[in-house]
Amino acid sequence: MAKKVVVIGGGIAGMESSAYLAEMGYDVTLLEKENSLGGHLRNWERLFPTMRLGQEVLDFLKLGIETKVNVIRNANILKINRIDKRFQIELERGASFNADALLITTGYDLFDATKKEEYGYGIYDNVITSAELEKMFMEGKSILTPTGKIPKKIGLIHCVGSRDEKVGHVYCSKVCCVTAVKQAIELKEKLSAVEIYCFYMDMRMYGMHFESLYKEAQEKHAINFIRGRLSEACENQDQSILIKVEDTLAGRPLKLSVDLLVLMVGFIPSKGTKEIGKLMELEFGTNGFYKTKDQHTLTNVSNIPGVFFAGSCTGPKTITNTVTDARAAVTTVASYLEGYNLEIRTKAFFQ
Ligand SMILES: Cc1cc2nc3c(=O)[nH]c(=O)nc-3n(C[C@H](O)[C@H](O)[C@H](O)COP(=O)(O)OP(=O)(O)OC[C@H]3O[C@@H](n4cnc5c(N)ncnc54)[C@H](O)[C@@H]3O)c2cc1C
Ligand code: SF4
Repeated sequence: MAKKVVVIGGGIAGMESSAYLAEMGYDVTLLEKENSLGGHLRNWERLFPTMRLGQEVLDFLKLGIETKVNVIRNANILKINRIDKRFQIELERGASFNADALLITTGYDLFDATKKEEYGYGIYDNVITSAELEKMFMEGKSILTPTGKIPKKIGLIHCVGSRDEKVGHVYCSKVCCVTAVKQAIELKEKLSAVEIYCFYMDMRMYGMHFESLYKEAQEKHAINFIRGRLSEACENQDQSILIKVEDTLAGRPLKLSVDLLVLMVGFIPSKGTKEIGKLMELEFGTNGFYKTKDQHTLTNVSNIPGVFFAGSCTGPKTITNTVTDARAAVTTVASYLEGYNLEIRTKAFFQ
């Protein structure tokens, strides 16, 4: 009989790993707490670095799980019991599933920008998040500020809720610099007369083709990149937003009024990541995401034998990194199920 794998979380990591495991002959059940699969990908219109439609990647992932994966939507996990080497997963509405291995792909949530009160989110109408800007792109309507104006000046603020000791997140969220570049280009294409200002701490364009997108933003679209951190945002009488920034390259303070202020919110561990972690006594790292058994050589392995991780539940990742990580997790899960001891080399060498 085929060995059973239960995958928890139906985002990119969960869908891609389920497809591979099922193709390899395992009996795979994918549990997703929402009514739809895809996780955050469902909310992104065009993807960096190629500007491909997010829907195309979603269709690709759906095709992979169409016939061979048992998909359970609206799955609220109540209990996970470990009996000898097997697992029993109980759902709120009574169903239960057995598994020889568990793969956790519970992803991330977005930083709650109201926690940076000085940035004015939730206080002033014309301060929005990068995810809300994506929603506007998705709706396909003309771009207007929440107060109904065609924006002439737009500011994008990097590192909101990341690299910030005050909010307790010292890590970099990795994708928001390039998302800002992508969104700035899209805004410029939709609103040709608009002036765009990106305020960054460092430009972290580490991925393949990210640097050329950044160059295109500067040379072709004349987007302004200013090194500086926002200290305060407040509302003018006409509901535009006055921002105060310290320009750290020029070494002087800068004041600018913009019609729309977009906050590039970072990754935090998802509610589901925290809940499943507590339920199973999984270890968390100092950044709050799951801790893997070794940062270099056991990147999909948890502290509990038979439980594995994939995707952004272990830290911020692009789609490319998530897909790669999901496939690496598949190899790790399959090796475990076929009786290989994955940890022996790491233990022998590093411990
Ligand atoms: C504004 C923004 C724009 C982005 N644009 C791009 C881009 O253009 N290109 C790119 O490469 N990357 C982009 N990214 C990054 C991309 O969103 C991530 O790489 C990707 O979503 C990670 O997938 P994941 O499966 O790990 O997690 P998620 O997308 O978070 O999916 C996790 C899934 O698990 C489910 N889940 C959680 N807890 C439970 C539970 N307890 N039980 C059952 N199910 C559960 C969730 O409902 C969700 O469906 C962007 C990120 C942001 C913030
Ligand atoms: S990717 Fe850029 S915007 Fe995001 S946290 Fe890192 S440095 Fe800040």
